[in-house]
Amino acid sequence: MNLIEHFVDGKVFKGTSKRTGKVFNPATGEKSSEVKFATTDDVNKTVLVAKKAFINWSQKTPLFRARVLFKFKELIEKNSDELIKIIVSEHGKIYEDAKGSLIRGLEVVEFACGIPQLLKGEFTENVGTNVDSWSMRQPLGVCAGITPFNFPAMVPMWMFPIAIACGNTFILKPSEKDPSCPMRLAELILEAGLPEGVFNVVNGDKEAVDALISNRDIAAISFVGSTPIAKYIYENCAKNEKRVQALGGAKNHCVVMPDCDLDQAVNGLIGAAYGSAGERCMAQSVAVAVGSIGDKLVENLAKKVKALKIGPGLDKKSEMGPLVTKEHLEKVEGYVDIGVKEGANLVVDGRKIKIKDYENGYYIGGCLFDNVKKNMRIYKEEIFGPVLSVVRAKDFNEAISLVNDHEFGNGVSIFTRDGDTGRTFTSKVKTFFIAYRESIEIIVRDQLIG
Ligand code: NAD
Repeated sequence: MNLIEHFVDGKVFKGTSKRTGKVFNPATGEKSSEVKFATTDDVNKTVLVAKKAFINWSQKTPLFRARVLFKFKELIEKNSDELIKIIVSEHGKIYEDAKGSLIRGLEVVEFACGIPQLLKGEFTENVGTNVDSWSMRQPLGVCAGITPFNFPAMVPMWMFPIAIACGNTFILKPSEKDPSCPMRLAELILEAGLPEGVFNVVNGDKEAVDALISNRDIAAISFVGSTPIAKYIYENCAKNEKRVQALGGAKNHCVVMPDCDLDQAVNGLIGAAYGSAGERCMAQSVAVAVGSIGDKLVENLAKKVKALKIGPGLDKKSEMGPLVTKEHLEKVEGYVDIGVKEGANLVVDGRKIKIKDYENGYYIGGCLFDNVKKNMRIYKEEIFGPVLSVVRAKDFNEAISLVNDHEFGNGVSIFTRDGDTGRTFTSKVKTFFIAYRESIEIIVRDQLIG
């Protein structure tokens, strides 16, 4: 059995823990590896390594650090097929989805290559009488990242390339469900010339996370994952006087106006709701059908959802892969059961499908609900699976209220042929897309968070 350890100080670190977690291939349901769960002692040792490495790394010129990242970018490109296959083998998403996510991560590495320019400070002469003012951008020290299962390469790469380029050292605690890709990235960045101890990976669960939060030598923590854990991390890092950012779950709406290009809206929704089997914080899991468009939208969506080809992620014919674990599959199926009990109309039922030769894989077909209401749990809660809920709204204003009133709005899109309607659409959520005729316009509000 393959045993995944930790990666500390430029080498495999076995740690002291006897506890392990199981890693599965979601396509077959077979256990592929066990992953070590770090103890508090293992984490504290890793922090000391990263603290020591900070002394030299923070003194390197930004140009030196950028060169390492350039080389890392090259190595990711060179090894992309292997990295993508690792993602597919532990997460389950299809090859093309995994490839797209790796490219999104790579873009952050490319951004980090520009760090000499980004780190420039400012100088103001005579800000007060005979007083000049400088601002400098300096590294913080040891930083840590705690990441979710759904993007095992991309989300870690939102964090560590920038932190390292700025002169910090970094400890990553990836998801215990798919830890192999982050471990491979650690090897590649070392091969790129990063000094030992600058980037480290500790595997584990709550014990490792709590050890990171309570360690006084960690200056900042970045978290991406579910909302309850995001709150826990945020509150406890704040108590321990750390800089923290914590991004949580989401329920994204797509407003479909009666004047839209229906084919475009349906195709857009199929990709946005069922891509990566809906395991995306930016998945569009709610379609708000405005006015007369509802029946036709549901009819056209149903045809495409039924036609989705479900299968293992490495099969080129597959359009949607399995979910990450058996527990997650049961959770998503449970939500579909709840929706039926709540009285929503299940137009396409993807539960209990069996894929020939992959009978033990964690598969669910696309599910489509119509006439979902505001008070239903399937509307209020994040399902994180291939389940799209259609809500009917009588007019544009009702659609806007639905979007703005939802607790977990992360992004919203609107399909309309009327550019003015799109532009006047005001929303509290972070990311905003308008689609009309053949073009898609993207307006990013605040920060783009996933
Ligand atoms: P999760 O919250 O279960 O796990 C995230 C991380 O927290 C993992 O590393 C895990 O080991 C750790 N963790 C889990 N339970 C913990 C506990 N009790 N105490 C301390 N640490 C704990 O999330 P997940 O299921 O891996 O990922 C899916 C979630 O991530 C979804 O809700 C999704 O919307 C969200 N997500 C958000 C964004 C964004 O940008 N906002 C991006 C991707 C994913």
